[in-house]
Amino acid sequence: MEQKEDKLKEVISHAKEYGFVFPSSEIYDGLAATYDYGQLGSELKNNIKSYWWKSMVQMHDNIVGIDSAIFMHPTTWKASGHVDAFNDPLIDNKDSKKRYRADVLIEEHIEKIRQKIDKEVEKGFKKFGDSFDEAQFRATNPNVLRNAQKITEIEDRMRTTLENNDLEGVYQLIVDLEIACPISGSKNWTEVRQFNLMFSTELGSVAGDASTIYLRPETAQGIFVNFLNVQKSGRMKIPFGIAQIGKAFRNEIVARQFIFRMREFEQMEMQFFVRPGEEMKWYEYWKETRANWHKKLGLGDNLYRFHDHIKLAHYANAAADIEFDFPMGFKELEGIHSRTDFDLKQHEQFSGKKLQYFDPELNQNYVPYVVETSVGLDRMFLSVLSASYKNEKLEDGSERSVLSLPPALAPIKVAVMPLTKKDGLPEKAHEVLNLLKYDYNCTYDEKDSPGKRYRRQDAIGTPYCVMIDHQTMEDNTVTIRDRDTMEQIRVAIPELYKIIDEKVNMRTLLV
Ligand code: ATP
Repeated sequence: MEQKEDKLKEVISHAKEYGFVFPSSEIYDGLAATYDYGQLGSELKNNIKSYWWKSMVQMHDNIVGIDSAIFMHPTTWKASGHVDAFNDPLIDNKDSKKRYRADVLIEEHIEKIRQKIDKEVEKGFKKFGDSFDEAQFRATNPNVLRNAQKITEIEDRMRTTLENNDLEGVYQLIVDLEIACPISGSKNWTEVRQFNLMFSTELGSVAGDASTIYLRPETAQGIFVNFLNVQKSGRMKIPFGIAQIGKAFRNEIVARQFIFRMREFEQMEMQFFVRPGEEMKWYEYWKETRANWHKKLGLGDNLYRFHDHIKLAHYANAAADIEFDFPMGFKELEGIHSRTDFDLKQHEQFSGKKLQYFDPELNQNYVPYVVETSVGLDRMFLSVLSASYKNEKLEDGSERSVLSLPPALAPIKVAVMPLTKKDGLPEKAHEVLNLLKYDYNCTYDEKDSPGKRYRRQDAIGTPYCVMIDHQTMEDNTVTIRDRDTMEQIRVAIPELYKIIDEKVNMRTLLV
């Protein structure tokens, strides 16, 4: 655990040192849970967006993308249920004065029990070796069964109390489970209260209720209110999807863990409109498709797992998270939700406008059902950064920090370097740079020894370094060094494009 916390600290400081992420308004000591993306961070973020957009929009002929306004008519949020129900249950510890989300405290308690089960399984594996049958062990071992039963009971109680808005019941569950504050260690809790997560502000100069508007807490509603606009103008046929990338704002009770939980963040969401009754098929389809999208990055399949929701949001009939093994453990990275026809029906009711689709095959009008995929861009960023960051011990005893980013996502694809600053090498290097810069984000570096320059590029994840040396001037060849193997090969300049492209083109992730 301690090691993992250290890892997060290392990632944060690496991100700052190399221009990926800075605390926001740092000269004023920063603003809680707000971060700025620096010169390399914004490139990495753009590449993640592009991977998502291309695979969702460009690769699906029945999905289109939009870019709706952050401000929306205030009735939108009445209709969506956010004004009345977008709350988190909060609880304070009277001794540490720290505030927590009550549901998160309970979930963390469940996770501890789950870890006990995993330990038991590990012990079994050690004992029985190759003949170990994990499924059978999980189904029969008394300790595993007892703990699994505990989890089910806690989850049941949590679900019923939260669904019934029974805040006293949530409090009682925390007391019964003897959950202690991680800071003070005490069990001296306040009552549980509900807290609305939407930020509000005023439109124009006239104060008063009528002009109160909200910063959108999700991008999804911008898609729902445009459902008919897009369907009609794009002549879309069901099933079809509308995708959007954009900022969302939530006044989170506990905002911490770097860019994992921020008050201003970015979402990449897609709403897929389907025939009523076909939503479960599409829900399964998108669960699998989205998991594959993540795994394609090559960070390691073992870093992902599904978590099915026990407490369903007010709009959903099925929901699962894709969780990622962040430095602070497995946490939600993406949500896949079957939202039924809740949102469109609510907007019909509140706006008085029909939001229906005429299905020519069924010769029938209906309000479509919706399956949503929603991934946090900043959480994606953290998953990619933390899984790619490594400190390696090399054969010669030295060490290097390397970001083994998926090459297509790397902020800089190629660093072009002259071996020395004289003999026409810098000019030749610029020639090579000019050749490549139309297709790739490149950088030029002539300062320090080649070894130091290579280390700098490793630390920011540049997949290739191209070195121009004296032989280049004679035969038009260069060396190209691979970030991961650190091997160098000599190639003719006209061959560079093909070698680089094979590795860094976004195509590698899309096919
Ligand atoms: P959590 O349970 O962690 O609060 P959520 O279930 O409320 O998240 P959703 O409403 O499903 O989140 O939002 C979809 C995605 O948006 C999440 O999977 C996550 O990646 C991202 N996200 C949500 N809240 C934040 C936040 N405060 N900071 C960064 N990303 C966020």
